[in-house]
Amino acid sequence: MDSELARETSLLLGVNDVDPVLEQNAEGRSPFLLTSDHYGRRIPQALGDLGLPESELLRHIAWDIGIAGVAERLAKHLDAHLIAQRYSRLVIDCNRPPHVASSIPLLSEATTIPGNEGLSREAAGMRRREIFDPYHRRIDAAIDQRLCGKRPTMLVSLHSFTPVYAGVARPWHIGTLYHRDKTLAPLLLRALRAEGDLVVGDNEPYAVGDGTDYTIPVHGEARGLVNTGIEIRQDLIADEAGQQQWAERLARILTAIAGTLHPAV
Ligand SMILES: [Zn+2]
Repeated sequence: MDSELARETSLLLGVNDVDPVLEQNAEGRSPFLLTSDHYGRRIPQALGDLGLPESELLRHIAWDIGIAGVAERLAKHLDAHLIAQRYSRLVIDCNRPPHVASSIPLLSEATTIPGNEGLSREAAGMRRREIFDPYHRRIDAAIDQRLCGKRPTMLVSLHSFTPVYAGVARPWHIGTLYHRDKTLAPLLLRALRAEGDLVVGDNEPYAVGDGTDYTIPVHGEARGLVNTGIEIRQDLIADEAGQQQWAERLARILTAIAGTLHPAV
């Protein structure tokens, strides 16, 4: 279905709502395919503010603060294709299997989400069909195209984490996240630790799992792609200077890794 037809038959997204999928550098030559599940904090107009004050909709519960600026700059530095999702994870979390409770959360950290209470199957299905599905279909199609063209492809799923969660401070500057990948994640972990000035989480602050993640298990592992997740602490990338520094650092490190894995690229 093309996007014009999709909008005509849409029951959730209206004429004033943007496409959920944001792409940058689709023709980029890098072996890295970048994704950002929690890039945006938009809410479809029909859902209002989900019953939350603006102060909550600016917090980490709504999106991955700072990651948009890092992801865009990193895509540019690496000449990599970035596929990102513009709607808030409070509408539907694009890094959760749609059947799990946290897909459309009733509670995030200590905040209840009134707009998600008592949701009908139809209402939940609309969010999936109009936001979650187009995003993941696009990633799927991009991977198909790359594999078809025999292009080296490594999936990097970009996230950021709150410095304090439920009252507990997190010491890490950055974490590598992985599950079954034995190639990229260990190289990235080693390279980040070799920087000398970073506290690097090894599957911290989160570990990847089939029940709590979607992008890495489905687009990375199930497709046989080398992959890693990256989590950057939000206070380090709250402003453009921080986003630029982290994008430059990650571009340098990832370029070196690509050179060892794919010397011809
Ligand atoms: Zn995230």
